[in-house]
Amino acid sequence: MEKITINTPGYTSDILVGEKWETVSELLPQEDTIIITDHNVKKIYGGLFPEAPVLSLAPGEGSKKIEIVEDLARQLLDAGIDRAGFVLAIGGGVVCDVAGFLASIYMRGIRCGYVASTLLAQVDASTGGKNGVNLRDTKNMLGTIRQPEFVICDPAILLTLPEQEYLSGLAELIKTAIIGDKELFEIIESSFDKIEARDSDLLTTLVAKSVKFKGMVVSRDEKEIGLRRILNFGHTFGHAVELQKGIKHGFAVASGMVLAAEFSFEKGYISIEEKTRMIDLLKRFKLATRFDLTDEQMKDLVFHDKKKTGTDIHFVFTHGIGKATVEKIPVDEALFFYNKFRDK
Ligand code: ADP
Ligand code: ZN
Repeated sequence: MEKITINTPGYTSDILVGEKWETVSELLPQEDTIIITDHNVKKIYGGLFPEAPVLSLAPGEGSKKIEIVEDLARQLLDAGIDRAGFVLAIGGGVVCDVAGFLASIYMRGIRCGYVASTLLAQVDASTGGKNGVNLRDTKNMLGTIRQPEFVICDPAILLTLPEQEYLSGLAELIKTAIIGDKELFEIIESSFDKIEARDSDLLTTLVAKSVKFKGMVVSRDEKEIGLRRILNFGHTFGHAVELQKGIKHGFAVASGMVLAAEFSFEKGYISIEEKTRMIDLLKRFKLATRFDLTDEQMKDLVFHDKKKTGTDIHFVFTHGIGKATVEKIPVDEALFFYNKFRDK
């Protein structure tokens, strides 16, 4: 087991990678805990949950809505949860995002912790404290940044994860490798069989490396005013595709990474060999699907992106495996490149 501690102003968060999730009861207060999960996770693991009331959401992105948060808050009130209460999220990114947001605003904030049950949640939602819900067609429009007290990342819980969900998380792992950890990239490159088999020891190593990198980034820049932006590699186009095509986050980000790699190559930041190596790794895990958008869809979405400032966007380029930078570029330049890439 590896414990990675993340310190941000006012909060300390322990990410326990390779820990058995059933040990979570030892981390909870004696009483006043409420569990938030989704129907699928409850069906598989509910019998092993700690002794506490369970609120269960419909699985999927559709539950990331403010109405759901309000409804849950009512149920917390009905269950008598007060300032001493504790929200335990057991689930994927959706459950952690909704529960984390709820815990951060209920009675101006109560304690919370996560058992991250998808690979995506273990490498992404687990670290950095971002939570929130969608508004209209904009992802995570309402939310806060607040670190959970702990996150358990148990590789064993990933054995029941549907293949597409697993691959979606893998895309985010590959992202971390490309922007900040060459060794992680090499391990993924050389461990195809073990990754396919969801080998526990290997997953512990991969998730721990990814959490460490992300933890380093967010402890330096919790509020995303600088360095943290590199985590958005592949996400500018990725978010556009995700919303327009309704595909899983990781697949969308993967297609955004292909584009970002091409863009970085066009700018002369990486060699053709480096570009090919990045794209080939995504291809091996069937993550390099192309999704084409019309000019109108692109324009709408790039402008709707809450991360844009004026007519510029922050675009993340790679400068070789393990290196990335953020550049402010005109929206038009991004769109121009997108058209060229799409129509090639
Ligand atoms: P993420 O945002 O992390 O991709 P979601 O919270 O949307 O994940 O979960 C993806 C899907 O996987 C949902 O249908 C959820 O119910 C299901 N799921 C989550 N964890 C597990 C698990 N350990 N085993 C099986 N299914 C799971
Ligand atoms: Zn992401």
